[in-house]
Amino acid sequence: MTNESSNSTTSNSNSTKENLPKSDSVMKSSDDKPQNQKKKYYKRPLRNFYNKRKGNLKRFSFKKVSILVPLYNEEESLKPLFVEIKDALKKISIDYEIFFIDDGSTDNSLLIIKEFAKTNPKIKFISFRKNYGKSAALQLGFKAVTGDAVITMDADLQDDPAEIENLLGKLDEGYDLVSGWKKVRHDPFVKKHSSKFFNYMTRLMSGIKIHDFNCGLKGYRKETVKNVELYGELHRYIPVLAGWKGFKVTETIVRHHPRKYGVTKFGISRFFKGFIDLISVTFTLRYIRRPMHLFGFMGAIAFFVGFMISAYLSYDWIFKNAPLSNRPLLALGMLLIVVGVQFFSVGLLGEFMAHNSHDDNEYSIKDKK
Ligand code: UDP
Ligand code: MG
Repeated sequence: MTNESSNSTTSNSNSTKENLPKSDSVMKSSDDKPQNQKKKYYKRPLRNFYNKRKGNLKRFSFKKVSILVPLYNEEESLKPLFVEIKDALKKISIDYEIFFIDDGSTDNSLLIIKEFAKTNPKIKFISFRKNYGKSAALQLGFKAVTGDAVITMDADLQDDPAEIENLLGKLDEGYDLVSGWKKVRHDPFVKKHSSKFFNYMTRLMSGIKIHDFNCGLKGYRKETVKNVELYGELHRYIPVLAGWKGFKVTETIVRHHPRKYGVTKFGISRFFKGFIDLISVTFTLRYIRRPMHLFGFMGAIAFFVGFMISAYLSYDWIFKNAPLSNRPLLALGMLLIVVGVQFFSVGLLGEFMAHNSHDDNEYSIKDKK
């Protein structure tokens, strides 16, 4: 690809030369000659340098990449991060924008990104008045970015901007979302291991076969970010949300670094919240259009078991004259019938709501004419 591009640049410049009007050379007098030679002498090395530089740059099919960085109180990391992002972008030949989303920082983070923004119109930022959470920051960023490829990364230097190239390469293979996989993780012991379990459960329940759902470093095609709706703390499940909408999801191994400055913004509560979110995400995605398949099924089973128990007790009572007052099974039978009816009713209500809130936007459209 690289050779091809440099060749094409060379052939272009040759053809331009050939296309020069002949009258030009006729008009040239003899004392123009040394000037011409001089021109030739300077032009070639410059052109070679330019071609070589362009040839060294990685090329992708994207026109513009948006780097999206959500941040909350990361003042120490921002400057080195900015330098690293710029260095990484110098190695690729795509136009870019860098979007910082300040999630209501109370330190100097906003002042620092404002300084960055002054240096270059390609550096943009949005600042929340208060802390809404990483999902909100990402969601707003997803709406705001204009690139046809989007790379998200954390602001704490744990994610390596040098991986931008790697992620874009994977996207160029035709994937809609590439999730980073921190195969070698530099996090505290508890987080590392609980995260393994969490990823295993998510893989199992969602059917999306990747190892690391919650990596901050991810690459997306524009269509993916414009179609994924994040709320609450669903940033942990972006690959699930996208995968369920039919986007092609994959992963690539990325480098990970220990946190150098500041502290993590998610405490131990992340695991409980994350787990509840996992249940709600998988059930919502699966059954939002057909609640009766979940509640109706569970209700029917509970009702059937309860009914059989009650029928058996009734038979004993009617035909064998057995007293029911000392049969704990009676309570179970009645409970299961009540629970069964409850589930069924919830399912019916769900069906009514699903029917009324029908919305064409929920279908993820790949192409149309
Ligand atoms: N973050 C955010 N809003 C929050 C919490 C975190 O924008 O309410 C950002 C944070 O600044 C960082 C990224 O999300 O850039 C990941 O946060 P953190 O490093 O604390 O998470 P961890 O690496 O511990 O999972
Ligand atoms: Mg971090």
